[in-house]
Amino acid sequence: MENNYERYLEIKRKQNTNEVSRAIHREMSRKRIKDGRRREWESKNRDKISEYNQYRKMNKHHDITDEEWESCKKYFGYACAYCGITENESIELYGQRLHKDHFHHMGSNEIDNCIPACKVCNSSKNDHDFYEWFQRPDIFDLDKFEVIDGWLSIFE
Ligand SMILES: [Zn+2]
Repeated sequence: MENNYERYLEIKRKQNTNEVSRAIHREMSRKRIKDGRRREWESKNRDKISEYNQYRKMNKHHDITDEEWESCKKYFGYACAYCGITENESIELYGQRLHKDHFHHMGSNEIDNCIPACKVCNSSKNDHDFYEWFQRPDIFDLDKFEVIDGWLSIFE
């Protein structure tokens, strides 16, 4: 964890601010591919992937259906993708269900840009670029990043 974070900071230092986010994503994805972790994830989740590819074929260019939202939350274990608080905890603590967060602030309203987030993370992320926001040491979590990246890779 600490080593990963060190590496993360190293990457960050090498890039100028504008390039940081893309570089981090590339580097982390490359590392996962190299590690075979992505392949491992894909082989474990083949059903999920084909299920979502089916969805995608059937449901092009529209907003998120209840079914899609349910599947998205299911993938993330009915928890905030950023801090891990569950939907039930979210209801208890904040009186609100999980929000449909736009991964890319200016991105689509479709499922391929949708991440479940609690009220606190949703408003903390607000209109920040994900990668800029997520590199805050109190928020950064490589494991959570990998889960998020896995979800997004379904739609690549
Ligand atoms: Zn959260």
